[in-house]
Amino acid sequence: MTEAPAPAGQHTVREHNLKLVLAELVTGPGSRAELAQRTGLTKATVASLVDTVIEQGILLEADPEVSGPGRPSRMLSFHPEGPVAVGVEINIDYTAICELDLTGKLIRHEQHPVDNRVGTLTGVLRHTARICRAFVQGGRRPLLGVGLGVPGAVSPDGQVLRAPNLPVLNGESIGPSFSQQLGLNLGAPVIVENEANLGALARLRSAPDAGQDFVYVSGEIGVGAGLIVEGELFRGLNGFAGELGHVVVDRDGPACGCGGQGCVEQYAGQDVLLRTARQPDVEALLAAISRGDSRAWGAVDRAGAALGVGLASLLNVVDLPMVVLGGVYARLFDAITPSLQAELGRRVLSSGRGGGQIRRSSLGVDAAVRGAAGLVIDRALKEPRQLAAGLQSG
Ligand SMILES: [Zn+2]
Repeated sequence: MTEAPAPAGQHTVREHNLKLVLAELVTGPGSRAELAQRTGLTKATVASLVDTVIEQGILLEADPEVSGPGRPSRMLSFHPEGPVAVGVEINIDYTAICELDLTGKLIRHEQHPVDNRVGTLTGVLRHTARICRAFVQGGRRPLLGVGLGVPGAVSPDGQVLRAPNLPVLNGESIGPSFSQQLGLNLGAPVIVENEANLGALARLRSAPDAGQDFVYVSGEIGVGAGLIVEGELFRGLNGFAGELGHVVVDRDGPACGCGGQGCVEQYAGQDVLLRTARQPDVEALLAAISRGDSRAWGAVDRAGAALGVGLASLLNVVDLPMVVLGGVYARLFDAITPSLQAELGRRVLSSGRGGGQIRRSSLGVDAAVRGAAGLVIDRALKEPRQLAAGLQSG
């Protein structure tokens, strides 16, 4: 005779409560009593939940700390050898990868220069999978899953809708084929998302001014934006939201890879910027700027002005208060801000009410990979069963 299954509701409640406890531990360690207080659950409930997760090696309970009268408390936190998430970014001229722990802390990061424009889809995925496999095999902790960022619009079900700067990805659902190329025993599908959206999500996690909505601008060869509206990523109906690089600055301007003309990217994209400045790379451009090279300054001013015109249109439509500059714009922040600020001040209607503020992203080049790994962590913390499943397959 088989045992009667537990009522469905009971399991759901337990999973819901476990999610609450894990979410609290992301914000910081705590004793069982503190976690009960922070989640509003009883101490007995917290105890029954955490015992299992400690046994699974996901949480660690420290030795007792005596602090004042009463029973000494033992702090619970995520296990330092517990599961990790990997984020990968296929960009136009590089592939990046990182590993985050469950609290979102960066453990490892690598960036590999590679011209992904020259390969076939299979070639690009195979090369990226090789980098990812070597990276994963170089780590010691169980792998929860992989998130993959791409320079193009991505549909809610992970299909790359349009990648004007990396057209081999157009129309491809690359998650399953990438997963196959990886050949790792992943317990869950590879998550695919637009790199600017990922940068925005990474910033949202780490934001010092949490609670404030913003537009994250990812400046690479392509220019993209991730919109955080009411604390959440705004993807639009199909995933095309935030295509800032293809907002028109001059309708009779230079032809763009998207089929249009005079797009922001044709003035402010990294390749155009370097070409106009006559510099081989961003380091050389920074050096030219610091020695007062007039051509370099002219190119940066032109890029900042075009970016400002495009961003002003975006801000006037969506009424978001703040712009966060990432990628190459974070590196050029001091040089590009004056021309950008001048356009925003002149054109953004909310500028008299504090609109059009500009911030520099502190995350640097690893923003997108952090966002990609962050999505894997979010998924696991929302479905705690995945945490244990990840450990078994690791
Ligand atoms: Zn365009």
